[in-house]
Amino acid sequence: MFANYHTHTPLCHHAVGEMREYVEAAIKGGIKKLGFSDHAPQFYDKGFVSFMRMLPSEAEWYIKEARALADEYKNDIEILVGFEAEYFPPIFERLRSFCRDLGVDYLIMGQHSLTVEPLDIWSSAPWEDKSVLTRYVDEVLEGLSTGSFSYLCHPDLFYYAGDDDEFYLSENRRLCEGAKKLGIPLEVNILGLLSGRRYPSDRFFGIAKSVGNDMILGVDAHEPSALYEHIGNAKLADFLSRNGITPLDDMVLRKI
Ligand SMILES: [Zn+2]
Ligand SMILES: [Zn+2]
Repeated sequence: MFANYHTHTPLCHHAVGEMREYVEAAIKGGIKKLGFSDHAPQFYDKGFVSFMRMLPSEAEWYIKEARALADEYKNDIEILVGFEAEYFPPIFERLRSFCRDLGVDYLIMGQHSLTVEPLDIWSSAPWEDKSVLTRYVDEVLEGLSTGSFSYLCHPDLFYYAGDDDEFYLSENRRLCEGAKKLGIPLEVNILGLLSGRRYPSDRFFGIAKSVGNDMILGVDAHEPSALYEHIGNAKLADFLSRNGITPLDDMVLRKI
């Protein structure tokens, strides 16, 4: 793996290991470019505090720490700093200008929930209601079309539990075609694959393959060792080969 843009830190409350340990693990794994992309702070209304992300007030330290490590390890690895963020239409502009002011390198989209989080419309919950899948696809495409997101993390995070296979296929084809039109790669999520989650799935990547999307690997590291433990993993090699996927080595990041 040349570049990995999907790396967390303990600031999100569900990852372990110091940022320095992630850098050293990436070097051990032969990664040449490491992007930190912890769960972005979000500017919720009414003082809601999310359990799965840093606070806005912690972002400055996070960026500074990444920049200091980038300098210290510059002979061994290139280090960038970004966020994995949801696209929440009512509060996205606030996040975007916050990132621009802080000089954040990039955003990748991980649409873990829909609209604003206190409503808890989790993408990964089982949804039989078709309209929720439609809403997921709509919000993802609207977010990607802002031009601020470099790639789409775990594009098949949404759990459609209904039995209308045709509907699943057509909505996800719409997602893949929209991403392709915008030139945005889809991530093959290594964490999901190696920990036996529902994603990445053959069903979804079969669609993406037929649409011809660009794809990129993302470790989605929540612990440092994930940055080298995937190397040589047969499950990963099998997934890529049976789905005919040749992931990009690297990609051009978009300005936020
Ligand atoms: Zn996470
Ligand atoms: Zn992630």
